[in-house]
Amino acid sequence: MNIAYIALGSNISPRESFLKDAISLLEEHEDITVLKKSAVYETAPVGYTEQNDFLNMAIQVKTELSPSLLLEYCQGIEEELGRKRVIKWGPRTIDLDILLYNQERMETEQLTIPHPHMHERAFVMVPLADVDAQAYLPHLQQTAGEVLGLLPSEEVRSMSKWGRIQ
Ligand code: ATP
Ligand code: CA
Ligand code: CA
Repeated sequence: MNIAYIALGSNISPRESFLKDAISLLEEHEDITVLKKSAVYETAPVGYTEQNDFLNMAIQVKTELSPSLLLEYCQGIEEELGRKRVIKWGPRTIDLDILLYNQERMETEQLTIPHPHMHERAFVMVPLADVDAQAYLPHLQQTAGEVLGLLPSEEVRSMSKWGRIQ
């Protein structure tokens, strides 16, 4: 049994439905169980800023899938929910990033775990710390709560709690 954390983000309407549908599709897989869901946060886009605000959340899952099979399944969900890759970091119906997989570290062409940018993104670390502040980032040797404490406080404060997904 493996524990993984996945970040979800959507900024194309209906954002909440895309989050919900992605979680349902994860739960549909017999080798994935969604254990915990963070609150949903609304966040302004970073990088390419000429786009709509995002809804972001994180979940903790239990899975029998390897990291690469989990990624493959997540990419299938992105495809099914109509994600088109047009602009790098541009608008998307749904983005599923694998943040952590047990305490493992790996780097292949397709997959880097822990996710290389997670610790510098408030829109990832706030939901992750909400799901599990004790989640351990093996490359930094710090917990999610500790890493969150190092982020600029105005970035953290700029994220508003939007609601919850059942
Ligand atoms: P970012 O990775 O900076 O958040 P993005 O999510 O917009 O950007 P995508 O277009 O969704 O980037 O993904 C590009 C590629 O990243 C994917 O094809 C996938 O192979 C790779 N990738 C590497 N590590 C991971 C990971 N931990 N989770 C998801 N995808 C990953
Ligand atoms: Ca991403
Ligand atoms: Ca992604």
